[in-house]
Amino acid sequence: MRAKILLTLTIILMFSLATAFGVGFIKYLVRPGDRLFNIIRDYNLRISTVLDLNCISDPRQLEPGEFIYLPTGDGFFYEVQYGDSIDYIARLFFALAEHIMVANNLSCNSYIYPGQSLFIPLDSINVCGNANPGTQFTWPVYGKISSEFGWRKDPFTGASTFHSGMDIAVQKDAPVFAAKDGTVIEAQENGGYGLNIIIQHYDGTKTRYAHLNRISVYVGQRVLRGELIGRVGETGRATGPHLHFEIVDSNDQCRDPRSYLTGANYMYVRREIETLGVGGR
Ligand SMILES: [Zn+2]
Repeated sequence: MRAKILLTLTIILMFSLATAFGVGFIKYLVRPGDRLFNIIRDYNLRISTVLDLNCISDPRQLEPGEFIYLPTGDGFFYEVQYGDSIDYIARLFFALAEHIMVANNLSCNSYIYPGQSLFIPLDSINVCGNANPGTQFTWPVYGKISSEFGWRKDPFTGASTFHSGMDIAVQKDAPVFAAKDGTVIEAQENGGYGLNIIIQHYDGTKTRYAHLNRISVYVGQRVLRGELIGRVGETGRATGPHLHFEIVDSNDQCRDPRSYLTGANYMYVRREIETLGVGGR
């Protein structure tokens, strides 16, 4: 209940800030017989936009009389955190800073401040530009690799244990994108993984995204590579906000994600001005 009130307050705050820049919300009253799929079709929005904004876990269970929020433009909201810059936020969304500035009516002289809500237009997001041309996998998040795949000292116990994925450290609520086209086969809390998503890909591989703060997809949903599926968190067995990213091959063996992705310790998208992999802060 408290979470719902908080969400409503956050959305009202975002509404007041966003309308100042021309991106608003419609508060939509769910009527008997309404299905989210029909609503998004009527408003020309993608399902991930609405799931992310409303924290809906199962779009098939909309209750008549419930309100949902629909943005007047397709895209995502990001709450500015201490130390953020427009350039850094653009990297988080695999976008160009100029596109975010235009969408939010910012100039080179504008300040951004913690708590400010910025709108990231869907068409400015270009995750797929970082796909490995051979494997077609793309980076799920922008951040710094904090722990590699393989044997390591357990961060809790210090004992030597096998790490089945790669940890990418980044701040809470950074967007997480599907690494490849596929179908969501798990989207729930799962022990030490915390809130986690598994996507089954059409080539037999699977990817796991763990320790999320928010899940924006549901089981059975078909997602495209580069689609926003959740937000980074530190749920489950985690020492701080990061994404635990796993690639499982068609024989159910965990593989080193590095061999499927383009090589980098950081991911960065503005290749025209910086060499791939040297971005970050
Ligand atoms: Zn991990």
